[in-house]
Amino acid sequence: MKTIGLIGGMSWESSAHYYRVLNQETARRLGGLHSAPVILHSVDFAPIAQMQSDGDWAGAGAVLAGIARQLQAAGAEVIGLATNTMHVVAEAITADLNVPFIHIADPTSDALLADGFGTVGLLGTRFTMEMDFYRDRLSARGLVSLIPEVDRTNLNGIIYDELCRGIVRDESRRVYVDAITRLAARGAEAVILGCTEITMLIDDDVSPLPVYDTTDLHAKALVAAALA
Ligand code: GLU
Repeated sequence: MKTIGLIGGMSWESSAHYYRVLNQETARRLGGLHSAPVILHSVDFAPIAQMQSDGDWAGAGAVLAGIARQLQAAGAEVIGLATNTMHVVAEAITADLNVPFIHIADPTSDALLADGFGTVGLLGTRFTMEMDFYRDRLSARGLVSLIPEVDRTNLNGIIYDELCRGIVRDESRRVYVDAITRLAARGAEAVILGCTEITMLIDDDVSPLPVYDTTDLHAKALVAAALA
């Protein structure tokens, strides 16, 4: 099995989910005491989040590209970035890499298309919902994505003010369920949890639409790539 390099810490709450799924999936596929060979570079999220609010995508891209190169030099043979939002700088990250980079939207698209869905709701940070980078990647695969018409600031705030700090509130779960209900009324057939922390709040039991959790799908795709 190849060594997986994970750029994490955005936030560390979701990187902890990645670490668990990487190992559980490896054990499921290989059996016995097998676990995932992983090199995790977990950043301090505060300066990255500041660059996001400042719109300093070039600066953030340079930082994450440097980390990706370090992971490669340290022996990572396949690399993943454990946040949807920062895929806005995926091009900068992959520019100098010689090892495969698994884009989080790709396994997500694969799963939706395999299940026959064409129109999907997209929930995430306001960057992921409102900028083009993520929705363009989905649309290149033939998926139509709908984002909430109202409450995007609130949905975004719940991610940064609560989930990234380990705070899980029923009231916030209701905000997300309401958003999914409205997406369903507009024609969404499934919903992408397009932020790696939303899995702390929403699952198939509470969602009115089938859930596609990017954290789970991305971590499993990294294991598949490491075993290919
Ligand atoms: N983990 C989040 C995501 O998947 C949000 C944190 C970040 O801005 O990186 O988008």
